[in-house]
Amino acid sequence: MDRKYIFVTGGVVSGLGKGVSAASLGLLLKQRGLKVAAQKLDPYLNVDPGTMSPYQHGEVFVTEDGAETDLDLGHYERFIDENLNKKSNLTSGRIFWNILNRERKGEYLGKTVQIIPHVTDEIKSTVYSLGEMTDADVVITEIGGTIGDIESQPFLEAARQIRTEAGPENTMFIHVVLVPYLACSGEYKTKPAQHSVHELQGMGIMPDCIIARSDKILEDGILAKIAMFCNTGKRAVIGNENVNPVYALPLLLHGRGFDDYAVSRLSLECGECNLEAWRSAVDRMTREKKRKVRIAICGKYVKLHDAYLSINEALYHAACRNDAEAELLFVDTEEVEKNGPVQLLKNADGILIPGGFGSRGIEGMIQCARYARENDVPYFGICLGMQIAVIEAARSLSGLLHANSREFDSDGGECVIDLMDGQRNIVSKGGTMRLGAYPCAIRSGTLLHTLYGQDLVQERHRHRYEVSPVFRDRIAAGGIVFSGMSPDGKLVEAVENPSCRFFVGVQSHPEFKSRPNRVHPLFDGFIRAALREL
Ligand code: GLN
Repeated sequence: MDRKYIFVTGGVVSGLGKGVSAASLGLLLKQRGLKVAAQKLDPYLNVDPGTMSPYQHGEVFVTEDGAETDLDLGHYERFIDENLNKKSNLTSGRIFWNILNRERKGEYLGKTVQIIPHVTDEIKSTVYSLGEMTDADVVITEIGGTIGDIESQPFLEAARQIRTEAGPENTMFIHVVLVPYLACSGEYKTKPAQHSVHELQGMGIMPDCIIARSDKILEDGILAKIAMFCNTGKRAVIGNENVNPVYALPLLLHGRGFDDYAVSRLSLECGECNLEAWRSAVDRMTREKKRKVRIAICGKYVKLHDAYLSINEALYHAACRNDAEAELLFVDTEEVEKNGPVQLLKNADGILIPGGFGSRGIEGMIQCARYARENDVPYFGICLGMQIAVIEAARSLSGLLHANSREFDSDGGECVIDLMDGQRNIVSKGGTMRLGAYPCAIRSGTLLHTLYGQDLVQERHRHRYEVSPVFRDRIAAGGIVFSGMSPDGKLVEAVENPSCRFFVGVQSHPEFKSRPNRVHPLFDGFIRAALREL
C-alpha cells in the first residue's frame, strides 16, 4: 500500500478544535491497525513556540526528542499515543531559518530564492520525511490558522503539490468549518462554510471531507446542504457538535462514519476499528462521580487555563481513574503575596505548583509550598514547582534564610537553585534549555519509588536551572530527601519530604506522558493522596 497523506485545514474561525478532529482520526486509524504519524504546520514566524508567552500561545508541549511544540501536539500524543518528534511541528519561522542559513552557506548560489519552489519544497520535505522516518502508513498534517490567512498560503500550496505528486488516490483533504447558530432566526447557517470552501478551492484544493462544527447536533438537511454547495458527497460531511469530555469525540466521529469514509476514500488496507479500551476510559470519565477532589494550581499564568493544558488533562485522567471529579482551583500567586495563602487554599485537597519562568509571583508560590508542608496538604511540584519546594525547605528547615534561585536573585549568595556550568554562558534564548527526555534513577525506599515501581524512568525536561550541589547536604540535613537523581549522580531530578503524607517535587514534566487510558503514576498518587487514599 502506498503511503497516504491526510491534510486538515480550518475555516471560518480559529479555535474550532481541528487538532482534536485530526487527532481523533489518527486514533481511529491506529485502532484499525495502521501506523499513523501526525504533525502540525504553524504559519507564524517564531522558529518554535518556545519563546512565546503562555498567554500568547498556551502551554509549550515538549516531545521526547526535545522539540518545543504547539499545544495541539499534546492532543495528538494523548489520542494517538505515539511519541511525536522534531519533525512534528514546523513553523514558517523554522522554514525561513533553514532556507536563509542555506542561502548564506551558498547552497543556492546563482539562484533566486523564492516562496515557490524553495519554501514549498521545504514544507513538502518535512511532510515526506516524517512519513519516512516513522515508516507510517498514514501521515496526518494539520495546517494551522484559518483559510484566507496570508501566512498559510505556502502551506496550502505545498499540500496541493503533494496531492499531485503522491496522487489524488493517496491524499485526502479534510476541512473543519464552523456552522454558526443564529438565535434571532433560530437556524444554523451554512454560508460561512460555503465561503470558506470556495476560498480553499481558489487555492486549488477541493476538500474531500467536511467536519461541520456546531454547538448542538446538526440536522441532516443542514449536512445535505453543505454537501450540495461544497461539492462533497453527503457521506463526506460529518456533523460535529460540542462534546464533553473531548475524549468522546473519536467515538462520535466513528459513529458517524469518519474513519469508514477515510478508509474507502484512500483505499486503506486495514481491519475493523477496535475502540474497546478507549470506550472504557471514556465510560469511566462520563460515569457519575459521587466525590470531588479539589486541586489548587498555583502559578502566574492562571488566567489562561491552556497555559497548563497537559497538567489539567493529567489531573483529569487521574481523578477519573479514581472515580472522582477533579475541581481545579486556579490560584494567582501574586494574590497570595497580597492576601496570604489561607483564604485561597483552605478548600484545596491538593496543591500543585506547575512550571514557570521569571520572578513574578514567586514569593507567593513559596508561601503556597510552606502552607502545604505545614498543613500536610498533598503537594506536587513540577519543574519550577520542585525548585520552589527546595527554596522553601532551605529557608524554613535548613536555616538558609536568603535561599533563592539564581533566576530571581542574580547575585545572591544562597542560590540553592543555580545555573550549571553548561548553561552559564548561554545568551541565546531559543532551544537552549535542557530539553527532552532524560533518565532519572530512583532511590529505593522513597515514595517516588513506590509510585513508579521502577528504578529508572525517563521523563521530559524543559528548564535551565538545577538544584545546586553546593547546598545539597544542608538541604538534606533539613529533612528533604533527594529521591531521584540523574544516573551519574550530578543532577537532582526529584525531591520529597517524608514527614508529609505526599510532598513530591520533580524537575521534569511528567504531565506530558499522561494518557487517558494510561494515567501517570505520579498524578495518580497525588490524586489518591488528595482523596486520602494513599
Ligand atoms: N524557570 C525554571 C528553569 O528554567 C523552571 C522551568 C520550568 O518550570 N519549566 O529552570
